[in-house]
This record gives sequence, C-alpha cells and structure tokens, in this order.
Amino acid sequence: MPTKRDYYETLGVSRNASESEIKKAYRKLARSHHPDANPGDEGAEERFKELTEAYEVLSEPEARRAYDTYGHQVPRGGGGGRPGGGDPFGGFEDIFEVFFGERSGNGSFFSGGRAAPRRGGDAETEVEISLQEAAFGAEREVNVQTIKNCPVCDGVGGREVHTCGTCGGAGAVRTVRQSLLGQMVSEEPCSACGGRGRIIDVGCENCRESGRVSEVVSREVKIPEGVDDGMSLRISGGGHAGEPGAGPGDLYVRIKVTEDPELMRDGEDLIHRMRVSFVDAALGTEVAVPTLDGTTEVKIEPGTQPGAALNIRGEGMPRLRRRGRGDLKVLVDVMVPTRLTAEQRELLKRFEESSGDDTYNGTGASFFERLRGVFR
Ligand SMILES: [Zn+2]
Ligand SMILES: [Zn+2]
Repeated sequence: MPTKRDYYETLGVSRNASESEIKKAYRKLARSHHPDANPGDEGAEERFKELTEAYEVLSEPEARRAYDTYGHQVPRGGGGGRPGGGDPFGGFEDIFEVFFGERSGNGSFFSGGRAAPRRGGDAETEVEISLQEAAFGAEREVNVQTIKNCPVCDGVGGREVHTCGTCGGAGAVRTVRQSLLGQMVSEEPCSACGGRGRIIDVGCENCRESGRVSEVVSREVKIPEGVDDGMSLRISGGGHAGEPGAGPGDLYVRIKVTEDPELMRDGEDLIHRMRVSFVDAALGTEVAVPTLDGTTEVKIEPGTQPGAALNIRGEGMPRLRRRGRGDLKVLVDVMVPTRLTAEQRELLKRFEESSGDDTYNGTGASFFERLRGVFR
C-alpha cells in the first residue's frame, strides 16, 4: 500500500486552517482536477478522489479531530460513506450543489446519513377538446395549481443559511469510539440540522420556512392529432417542484373529448347516422355527409335498405402512432312517413296495387347481418 499523502498537504492548507479555508481550497482544486475537466487524463480521477477524501475528513469536525490524532489509521466507513458506494463522480453539478448553498440539499456527494432529495409530485389537469381538435391536434393553455420553490428564499426556507457547524454540511456525524477491536466509526444523522446539512437563521415568511409555495401556473399544452377521450398526456417536469437538488414531477393532462352531434367515434373510425326518406332509399340519390373537415358526397344506391352501411375510406380519425386515417362508416336510417295527406295515401295505395312479387327482391338480409358486413 503506497504511503498516503497528508490530507492537509493534499488540499494545500495549514494544519490550523478554518472550515471555510478548507472548503475554499477544495472547491478550487476540485474544479481543476475534476475528471470531466480533464478528459483523457488517467491521473485526474485519482487526484480528484484523493482531494475528495481529504475534504470529507477535514470538513467534518469529528473526523478531522480523529485524523489529527490518529492520522490515516482511522478506519473510515466503507466506500467513503457515500450512498450507493458507486462512482463518486456525479459530474460537476454535484460539486456546485454542495458548495453553492441554494441547492445544498442534494446529499448525493458527501452525505452519509441523509436520504436522497425527493423528486416533486405529479400534477394533474384536464382539457376539453372537440372531436375535430382530437383529430387534428390543438394547442391549449392550461392553468395548473403547482407547488413551486419559494421565489423569496429560492426554496431554501430562509435567509443567511449557513452550513451546519456540527456536521460540516454533510448532514451526518461520524463518531470514533475506542473498543476492544480498535477504533469504531459510526455515522448518524446530524441532530443540529436535522440531517439537512444547513442552518436557517432567519426563516422565510413567504413560505413559512417550507421553501415551497403553491401557485397557479399557466402553460401551453400541445395536443397531438389522434388523441382519444380519457387519454393523458405527460408533460415531463411540469409537475410540482422537488426538494432542492431533485427534479420536479410531471404534469398529466387528461383529455376529454366532447361529443359531436354528427360523428361518433369508434376507435380509428367514425360513424355517422344518416336519415333518408323511403323514397330516396328506393329511387337512389346523392347526399352530403359531414366529415371532420367539411362534407363529402355519397351515393345512395336505388333500393338501399334500412341499416345499410356505407364505408368511406380515409375519412375517419388520424391514427395515433401510424400513418393514415380510419374510415367513416355511414349507417342509413330509412324514414317512413308518419303523416300522409289524402292524396299521398292514394298515391301509395296505387303504388302498392302495382307492386308485384319481385318488387322486394333481395331485401331479405337482416339489419344485423348487414351490420356484420361492415363491422367485421
Ligand atoms: Zn420562502
Ligand atoms: Zn448538521
């Protein structure tokens, strides 16, 4: 095992350096030796680890005292006491979060006992759109009651926040004890700061020291084409603010599609019920059918039966994750007159008298059989 450099020497500070001098020295060195700042330099990671270890010990009064007394023999917690014990290099951000007060709640770097900051909760809202908007997309402004970081104290909860002197900002305290087996180091959450690593001198009145406020946030929501009633859009990061150092939750926008008087949705297809008179059904005609973006003409063949279904390709809903559109299915309702004049009654009687055995040929298929033909 190679001889370890003295921690004070590593940080380039004197043996009686103050807490802030140690912090300042580490901050400066950590920036220039961070592996991210030295790509390809094999030694950078080693130097950075050395620096970090030195800082971890010297920035904690108890650990520093033990080091002063026992030097490198003091056993330290496995993996340097970092949660997860994995790669200590979370990127530059971690260093800044630790040092620049505002976001010091992130304990990912030095904390032993602190739990990771919690991500914000998800927010929810609902938008009501028309069938046409569901088909072709829309943009909506939604107002969402959202928990934000307090703008007065930046989510910290107060002013003149300083690093906890008891734990040196780590949120946990190490205790070195003598036992029969040698020295034992234990780590517990710091009681002076409640594991937060910082002390608030003047509480923020705006948020009652919680660092959080609730406000209505207005936001543009882009609704993609093809959405359906009951779907939810997820807007990443649009939810409530997280604890300092953790990301916000997501915003879920529930889609409510209002009913259309003419067009009923059936998945990718649309259904339109069309009423034609029994005369038109018998003689045939052309009628205008409403579509999502206008109307289209359809031909009613002579002899069209009640319940007949016509299929208009490509006039349905746009497909959500595929190309193209569904179909528009037109169901024919044949209207039978309910009020006849004497003259009309006479005409129908004459029509009936002239009808033969083959007048109603080929009308045997039932309503349901014909439906099955279209809705396979
Ligand atoms: Zn506040
Ligand atoms: Zn503390």
